[in-house]
Amino acid sequence: MFVWSAAVSEINGYPSANIAEFLRTADVPTPFVVVDTSLVEQRYRQLADALPESRIYYAVKANPAAPVLERLVSLNSAFDVASPAEIDMCLASGASAQNISYGNTIKKRRDVEYAWSCGVRRFTVDVDTELDKVVDVAPGASLCVRLRHECGGADWPLSRKFGCEPADVVRLLAMAADAGSECGVSFHVGSQQRELDAWSDALEVVAEIFQRARHLGAEPRFVNLGGGFPGTYRERTPAISAYGSAIQSALARWFPEGLAEVMVEPGRYLVADAGVLRSEVVLVSRRSPEDSERWVYIDCGKFHGLAETMDEAIRFRLRTEHDGTPTGPVVLAGPTCDSVDVLYEKSSYELPLSLAEGDTVDVLSAGAYTTTYSSVGFNGFAPLQEHFV
Ligand SMILES: *Cc1c(COP(=O)(O)O)cnc(C)c1O
Repeated sequence: MFVWSAAVSEINGYPSANIAEFLRTADVPTPFVVVDTSLVEQRYRQLADALPESRIYYAVKANPAAPVLERLVSLNSAFDVASPAEIDMCLASGASAQNISYGNTIKKRRDVEYAWSCGVRRFTVDVDTELDKVVDVAPGASLCVRLRHECGGADWPLSRKFGCEPADVVRLLAMAADAGSECGVSFHVGSQQRELDAWSDALEVVAEIFQRARHLGAEPRFVNLGGGFPGTYRERTPAISAYGSAIQSALARWFPEGLAEVMVEPGRYLVADAGVLRSEVVLVSRRSPEDSERWVYIDCGKFHGLAETMDEAIRFRLRTEHDGTPTGPVVLAGPTCDSVDVLYEKSSYELPLSLAEGDTVDVLSAGAYTTTYSSVGFNGFAPLQEHFV
């Protein structure tokens, strides 16, 4: 039985009453994102219910703001980090180092040293030079070997740069065992993954890797299922409970004897739907009088947090105060003097014909991968601001 995700429970088209109230009353400059951390908590609980045997490591890069991290610390979440600064943010928010996993496969030696000195004990690697580095600097650390994944079915793939082939995973697990380290395997099926079978296909490969590694004397004991759980954008996705059942049955099928530890690293799922980005219309124009298509320029573009519109990969839902009135096709663009700063041109976006300069355009489910993707001041525009309710 396939269940589609229910529309986010909405108040005036917004994901919570607090966000709706903030957007109605707050007198703050655009563009900004407003995040309701109680929605982050709600998502955390929904994922924990869907995957009861997995420990949640929040992928900090999705939104590293202190109120988000503090809320997750209060729920006893663990964290996946990529740099010393992300370790510091987690520690400052009250996380304990033993609940931090260093998931970036590309680490400076001195950054591994720093993490180790803070008490971080788990590191991800995907080549022998990186494994040697970690073993050298952090002897006895827990080693997670990342399997390469093609990321088919994902709107935002993370494939070619990370992970190694199954034979190399086996070899690295054996090296970890030789170094006296506990070990396990991770993969990432790609962000905004809309195919439920993705995890099962990867787990089948991981189960075989475990068997071959055991023949070489390694005893891999954990699996890291990565991220990939969806935010609510224009195309529908299955409900989180459907992801949960697909993964639970894949784990039972490929690891019938059970696993000592299962990790999951959601980023997008926990924070995307908890945030709304408000922008203001700078200009509406037609390139020629007979052109049916309008260009709508808003004060937030690819350089102000909407980087995931690259190749129109993530297709956000938009809301305006004229919703419900007649619409027409638009090209939606940002405010900067760079021609790549166009958000949507090919994805058939329509906006109300009455939309005019000074109106607002709200980008829904913008709590993930926006604020930290904003430039520090390209063309003199301030970075995307963030508010919390
Ligand atoms: C970015 C990232 C995640 C989070 O992915 P989402 O698709 O946002 O859930 C998890 N693990 C690693 C290693 C990542 O790089």
